[in-house]
Amino acid sequence: MSQPAKPAPPAGRANAKKELSEHFKQYKHVWVFVEQERGHVHPVSWELMGSGRRLADKLGVELAAVVIGPAGEATKAAAAEAFCYGADLAYIVADDVLTDYRNESYTKALTDLVNTYKPEILLLGATTLGRDLAGAVATTLLTGLTADCTELEVDADNSLAATRPTFGGSLLCTIYTLNFRPQMATVRPRVMEMPERVEKPVGRIIEFPLGMVEDDIVTKILAFVPDRDKATSNLAYADIVVAGGMGLNSMENFQLVRQLAGVLGAEYGCSRPLVQKGWVSADRQIGQTGKTIRPKLYIAAGISGAIQHRVGVDGADLIVAINTDKNAPIFDFAHLALVTDAIRLLPALTEAFRKRLSPHTRDRIAS
Ligand SMILES: Cc1cc2nc3c(=O)[nH]c(=O)nc-3n(C[C@H](O)[C@H](O)[C@H](O)COP(=O)(O)OP(=O)(O)OC[C@H]3O[C@@H](n4cnc5c(N)ncnc54)[C@H](O)[C@@H]3O)c2cc1C
Repeated sequence: MSQPAKPAPPAGRANAKKELSEHFKQYKHVWVFVEQERGHVHPVSWELMGSGRRLADKLGVELAAVVIGPAGEATKAAAAEAFCYGADLAYIVADDVLTDYRNESYTKALTDLVNTYKPEILLLGATTLGRDLAGAVATTLLTGLTADCTELEVDADNSLAATRPTFGGSLLCTIYTLNFRPQMATVRPRVMEMPERVEKPVGRIIEFPLGMVEDDIVTKILAFVPDRDKATSNLAYADIVVAGGMGLNSMENFQLVRQLAGVLGAEYGCSRPLVQKGWVSADRQIGQTGKTIRPKLYIAAGISGAIQHRVGVDGADLIVAINTDKNAPIFDFAHLALVTDAIRLLPALTEAFRKRLSPHTRDRIAS
């Protein structure tokens, strides 16, 4: 009797085994890169510390902060603060050559640390600096990097399952780094919840030399020119956000969003087509290719709620949507649905809040 033909093994990577070489089996522990610039730690570092803590606990390993910066108090303070957000230890590379971010020096510091202490997971913020550094470190170490993750988990065989949107945000895919270490991932600000800060001043510190001098670096910093707009937009971290979409019909009508935001002491934002039309600047775009926000209150006026917008606002506590179409997708996830003309409702809301909110109350709402 003839045997039924064996099914052919799946082709390509689907057939790849999660088999690590002996060399990579030594890689242990979870690391979070603490991004600091001019004495200011980017809050995404603490958000990642929360995720890192969860992963480290599941794996039964330690969580380490990696702090790279100039010699002095600010770098030490960043390491001390990392303990308050859950780090068990901190690696510090402190050298005045590292005063300003430069790809060469930071890549050297981080790759040398990885090659010496061998972490299994390395997380960085998907900021301008973090993206630049993560790409350079991953290519130097010849390992995998999953960018802009929305979920990080440990699977049954202890691999990092890094999930991110794909196909224009219409699907989510989970990516594994099967045969290399560390498993690297970046996460955008506000995607992960901020962990509670706990007063815990003790933790181990391991100092590591940079092994590079100024003359070794090709890139020179001639001057630091701060971004004039940066201080004015705090969209990602605002407690109240009012945003407008194509339903507002014109740049003039978008002023209605700004007026309501002004009265509420809120930040204002928009959907992507308004940026594409040049009505609003790109740093105000909310969504997959814009900012991720986690406000207490999000008011969306004339926004349909496409998936690429939704992923940027899912973390909001209360979503109020104003839309003329009762079947608009935004009503599938809004907490409060106002089926009406935003161009008429927005000025009425602004006026009502202006009358009822004293400046003191507004400050209180926003705090
Ligand atoms: C790769 C990729 C990335 C993307 N990234 C983003 C992103 O980061 N952010 C983002 O927002 N989009 C993004 N998009 C675009 C996204 O798919 C949608 O096209 C976009 O969000 C739609 O914007 P909108 O809701 O303002 O406009 P529309 O889809 O045109 O919706 C307008 C809405 O206004 C309503 N309306 C009309 N008149 C009124 C009125 N008078 N009062 C109240 N409501 C009214 C309509 O019923 C409709 O629901 C991305 C797309 C791709 C392919």
